[in-house]
Amino acid sequence: MILFKRRTDLRNYLDAQRKTQAETGFVPTMGALHEGHISLLNEARQHNETVICSIFINPTQFNDPSDFNKYPVTLEKDIRLLEEVGCDILFLPTVEEIYPGGVDINVQHYDLGYLETILEGKYRPGHFQGVCRVVHYLLEIVKPGHLYLGQKDYQQCMVIRRLLDITGMNASVNIHIAPTLREKDGLAMSSRNTRLDPTTRQKANSIFEALDHIKKNIRAGDTGPLREKAIASLAAKGFRVDYVEIADAGYLRSVADWDGKQKIIALAAAFIGEVRLIDNMLLT
Ligand code: AMP
Repeated sequence: MILFKRRTDLRNYLDAQRKTQAETGFVPTMGALHEGHISLLNEARQHNETVICSIFINPTQFNDPSDFNKYPVTLEKDIRLLEEVGCDILFLPTVEEIYPGGVDINVQHYDLGYLETILEGKYRPGHFQGVCRVVHYLLEIVKPGHLYLGQKDYQQCMVIRRLLDITGMNASVNIHIAPTLREKDGLAMSSRNTRLDPTTRQKANSIFEALDHIKKNIRAGDTGPLREKAIASLAAKGFRVDYVEIADAGYLRSVADWDGKQKIIALAAAFIGEVRLIDNMLLT
């Protein structure tokens, strides 16, 4: 695996390689890699000649500075895992390398419309602008044919799809969305799980259980009682719930009265202790 820290070096290397028409698969991450990330890299490995992973803890997508400061870093282990999975290139830029003019200037606004006003967009103001900014920059540097994302961040997948539409990159980049990998007890794998202490870790799978309960009990008609029960069960276990929502899987518009046919999804975000966890489950 080759490690690049400078974007011009990476871009020059990839430009030279592109002349041989090699398919490139790209997996952007913030590091502290786990099996969920590795499943994306495996998928990329199977379908591309060149596999590129980036590790960059992007300051512009953290609306809570303490979440940024406490974000786990496990670089040595990450490099070992990337070599094991056969990743060809690791891009490991500094903040200055990605934002040479500083994080606050020259901010391009991405018109994400309704998507930015709901769920993660509502509870983490500015988050998706930061995600778009960094993904836009990374895609301009890497210029991949294939971009691998996790369903774990369902709304983020929709935001990035919109980013590709806005920027015209949809003509050259194909998005692939991989299923959420879970621990044995159902907890969605996440870098933030390493911040859970034994007591909160034991309770953390309650989000999965709440979503699973919705999935097993959803019927046509009023979705309110199931949603409220999920919120109450999480609150009873000590979670501070941002949202539990049942929405259509295409646009994420809230579905209060389900016709029994529309493709729907349940999504949740809640704090256990200081750690904010998100998860989702397709219901149909
Ligand atoms: P992150 O490092 O959290 O920014 O995640 C990098 C990529 O890995 C994103 O596309 C995530 O959606 C994806 N990812 C995170 N957790 C999981 C998981 N448990 N299963 C599958 N993909 C995941």
